[in-house]
Order: sequence, then C-alpha cells, then structure tokens
Amino acid sequence: MLKNDQLDAWDRDAFFHPSTHLAQHARGESPTRIVERAQGVYIEDRDGNRLLDAFAGLYCVNAGYGRQEIADAISAQARELAYYHSYVGHGTEASITLARMILDRAPGHMSKVYFGLGGSDANETNIKLVWYYNNILGRPEKKKVISRWRGYHGSGLMTGSLTGLELFHKKFDLPLEQVVHTTAPYFYRRNDLEQSEAEFAAHCAEDLEALIAREGADTIAAFIGEPVLGTGGIVPPPEGYWRAIQAVLKKHDILLIADEVVTGFGRLGSMFGSDHYGIEPDLITIAKGLTSAYAPLSGSIVSEKMWEVLEKGTDENGPIGHGWTYSAHPIGAAAGVANLRLLDALGLVANAGETGAYLNRAMADALADHPHVGDVRGEGMLCAVEFVKDRDSRTFFDPADKIGARVAASLLEQDKVIARAMPQGDILGFAPPFCLSRQEADTVVAATARAVRMILG
Ligand code: PMP
Repeated sequence: MLKNDQLDAWDRDAFFHPSTHLAQHARGESPTRIVERAQGVYIEDRDGNRLLDAFAGLYCVNAGYGRQEIADAISAQARELAYYHSYVGHGTEASITLARMILDRAPGHMSKVYFGLGGSDANETNIKLVWYYNNILGRPEKKKVISRWRGYHGSGLMTGSLTGLELFHKKFDLPLEQVVHTTAPYFYRRNDLEQSEAEFAAHCAEDLEALIAREGADTIAAFIGEPVLGTGGIVPPPEGYWRAIQAVLKKHDILLIADEVVTGFGRLGSMFGSDHYGIEPDLITIAKGLTSAYAPLSGSIVSEKMWEVLEKGTDENGPIGHGWTYSAHPIGAAAGVANLRLLDALGLVANAGETGAYLNRAMADALADHPHVGDVRGEGMLCAVEFVKDRDSRTFFDPADKIGARVAASLLEQDKVIARAMPQGDILGFAPPFCLSRQEADTVVAATARAVRMILG
C-alpha cells in the first residue's frame, strides 16, 4: 500500500482519539503510532517497528493476530449477508449459533444471550434489565447499583458511573446518583497491613454489609464486579472474597452481575471467571474475548431466574423496549463463532492457564526481590507488577513521578515490548494473547527486568 504522507497531519487535524491527552497530542508532545499489520503476538507500525504486544491490544486479541479462520468467516459473512437486524424475532445463522455456543460454555444456570457491540453497552443493557426486573416484581424502589472502587465497567453514563476510577468521573458530572461504590478487594493496598488475606476478604464483606445497611437493602438492586479487577490494577481477589460477598448479596436479595469482559472466554485459564472463583451471577457481561476483537460484539448472558421475570414483563407490557441497530450484527457473530471454534481447536484456553502461570512465575522470580517492586500478582494470562518507593513501609511513589509509565516507555523503546501502565498507581500490566509461547514469555520477563533496572536501578 502506498504510504500517505499526510496521515500524521490528518491524525492531528481530524482524528479525536479516545482516552488521550488531547492538548499534548495536538502539540505533538505525546507518542503516536500508526499500526499497520499484526501476526501472532506481534504488531508492526508504519515506521517499521515490530513490537511484542503483551497486552493483546486492550486485553482483547485473545486468539492472537492474523487468524485466517476468523478473517475468512468475516469475509464470507459480509459477502453472503452483511447485515440484517434481530428485532421482532429476526435472526441469522451466525447469531443463533453463537448464542447456543456461548450458553454451552457458560455456567449451567444461564439461559439466554442478548448481543450488543462493546462492553460498555452490554453493561448498560444489564443495568436496564435489572431495573426492568425489579419493576416487574413490583419493587420500584430497589434500583441502586453497587460497584467497587477501582472497578472498570465502561465509559458510558451509567457504566462510567459504575467504573470506580476518578479519571472517568472527573468533569463528566459522574457518578450518577443510582451508583454507590464499595471497597476494592485489593489486598496489597489494604489499610491494615496486619490483616491476612482471609481477614481482608471478610473486611470487604463487612464494608459491603455496612453500605447496604446505610443505603437500605430495599433500595439496592445489584452488585457489579469483575472476577479479577482489570483496569483498576489487575488484582485477583483475596482468598474467600467471592464466597463472602455472595453470602451478603443473597441475604439482601441483591442481584449479582459478573463483568467478564476481560475474563470471559479463557483469560484465567477457565472458560469463565465465574467458574474459576465459584461465582453464581444473575447476569454475565461478555465482549472482548468473544470475537478476539476481530469484530465488535458483546453480550449479556441472562440467568433463568431473571429470564422468567423478563418474559412475564413482556406479557404485561408488550415488547421489551431495548435494542440496538447492531444487536447481534452478523459479521460480529460470524467472527465470534469462528473465534470460539479456534479457541477449542487449538486448546488456547488451556494455554492461557499454563503459559500464564509460567509467565507469572517467571515475572515473580525475576522481580519480586527488587527493592522497588512491592507486588507481583496475576492469574492465568493476566500479570501485574506494582512499584513502591519503600517496600517495608509500603510507601508509594508520587504519582507525578510517573514511575509506571516510565517503565512501560522504557520497555517499549529498548525492547519493543508493549505492556500497559495501568491508569491509577504505578502498576505495569500484562495480558498477552493466549497463543504466547514460553519463549515469548521469557522475552517479556527479561525485557521487563531490564526496564525496571533502567528506571529504578
Ligand atoms: N468491562 C470491563 C471489565 C472492561 O475491561 C471494559 C473495557 N476495558 C469494559 C467493560 C468496557 O468495554 P468497552 O470498552 O468495549 O465498552
């Protein structure tokens, strides 16, 4: 393809980048990259750089880049039937097949799949379903949603409110009043350093209980959480956390939404994070790994318990007034079917578990003793390294020093490995494609160790 010399100028003049420092970008002060192609775990940019993408895009290209099977399925679907809607009972072979395949893989009590486009809209759908459900049950006061500080659930109006990161609220007049936040299950950052993991999990459940008591259980509809906190810092839950939380929710008749946008379809080495941690959700949010990001597609998996009420609701009120033009888009659905078949055929979920464990072990071996590494943690193909100024007193660096971002930049410049500086705290995150080999894992670890030495000595 002919290079277009004007792309850099057009990028500044015409393209509004998401999650970007707009002023710095416009002034040419922040890094830019035009990505041209990708294969396996590597992406290539316009300047000829080949980079090992240890974050799988935005932890979404789970099957790896350049998969012919998925590209062919998309192309065949586009030629045969690029689009038809799924309103008033319409469907396509791809969308119906994919719904079946998802339920065959989901926890047993799940009953139906509603398709959207991305994780944010799927969570918006979930909140609307929760509200609809409580209205049909005749309890219109039960509407608030609890999420955790450091949770990430999207950046829409409701989902940006659920997200427990200040950056996503600031200057947007969020959170909305129906959202309340509770303690993040973040063991390393617990206030009381004397607490064991089990004690801290119990403490999180007590905080939840106290919040419910303050707000009134009859005002609280649902609790939403990622099985492993993702964007908030890649934090697996403390031992016993989900058991303790679910006991509180059951007691107060509060629905549970498992946001599996990151964990769904294998990232923890299990098909769902809910299976992994014994979570029994009423709704599951899926996106990213559903199509390995080859096409936008998300979904809300609805439990039988909720489905029965939703059905009843339409008998009383007519069709459910919720739908997107692109719900169950056939091209996304075709990508999803091909992607799930590929995960099975290549045993990629097992590889996420095994190579992920290898990556986590190797990262801990290489870095856990470094005086400025406070925590190395992970689960499956998720791994994080958290930096501290002083390990013993667990004193963090001044955010203005941007330690996490500087380590990530060094890793990229020196060793051409992409990790993600997580948005809150000096945390370097890794979430590679599931096809990562042990050799590639070794490359990531050696490069990270070099970058840490470079920035922190
Ligand atoms: N939930 C979780 C757990 C996520 O990680 C994300 C995206 N990072 C979302 C929801 C939102 O998904 P999207 O960006 O596709 O709207």
